[in-house]
Amino acid sequence: MIVTRFAPSPTGLLHLGHAWSALQGRRRAQDGGRFLLRIEDIDPGRCRPEFDAAILEDMGWLGLDWWNGVRRQSQHFDDYRAVLGRLEDEGLVYPCFCTRKQIEAEIAASAAAPHGPLGLIYPGTCRTHTRAERQARIAAGENHAWRLDVGRAAALAGPLYWREEGKGTIAVDPLIGGDVVLARKDAPVSYHLAVVHDDALQGITLVTRGEDLFHATHIHRLLQALLGYAAPDYAHHGLLVGPDGKRFAKRDRSLTLAALREAGRTPGEVIAMAEAMAG
Ligand code: GLU
Repeated sequence: MIVTRFAPSPTGLLHLGHAWSALQGRRRAQDGGRFLLRIEDIDPGRCRPEFDAAILEDMGWLGLDWWNGVRRQSQHFDDYRAVLGRLEDEGLVYPCFCTRKQIEAEIAASAAAPHGPLGLIYPGTCRTHTRAERQARIAAGENHAWRLDVGRAAALAGPLYWREEGKGTIAVDPLIGGDVVLARKDAPVSYHLAVVHDDALQGITLVTRGEDLFHATHIHRLLQALLGYAAPDYAHHGLLVGPDGKRFAKRDRSLTLAALREAGRTPGEVIAMAEAMAG
């Protein structure tokens, strides 16, 4: 049985691209499968309750019903802390005290300017701190994130793969994002760790999401291996493109589902619009 999900973050109103993404999941679950809705609200600075409420309203309006309640990540911070603790016990994560400015300065000063498909690659500054130094800085209340020691993690995990719909087997490049953040300074978890934990916990067999997250899957597959979680299959769908051939822009407010609804469009028309814009 296919168990898939739509996992929006309540940082703004849903737009046509979100409707397309949700529909991709809903369709894959339609023959006896399950389609779940998860609200990914770990970012305290950007998530708003009114956007959370709007997600439920928009999904209901579109007729994209979901199975068995809604999981909200912000209600499970203790679970994520425990998962991070498991990685810490294995020496696979370390506290990072760097500010973004410091990281950028360090990268600018080095001959190589490592940038991957997931953005800048952390130069590893805090990886070399001694245990005593880490403990002293944490005890002194210094704000810190937690990063994956990806070199160690990759060596421990060995070669990994995932199954991608329409593409077959993809070999994991675990180093693609460098020492990624697994717990943020402003939240006890990051997107990567929360999504991997929740997909496993919710028994997701097929992760349906936009192709902009394709590269993140290298990290997710690695985390699954480290945590002993089963690997789901993946379907990274194409993103919507406008008539100019450019990727549909979130900033086009007239294409929020709320605006389309207010303009008198029916759910069927909205879905047809998304179909027409699918790349
Ligand atoms: N919460 C993510 C977003 O809104 C999607 C995560 C996922 O589907 O894995 O972009």
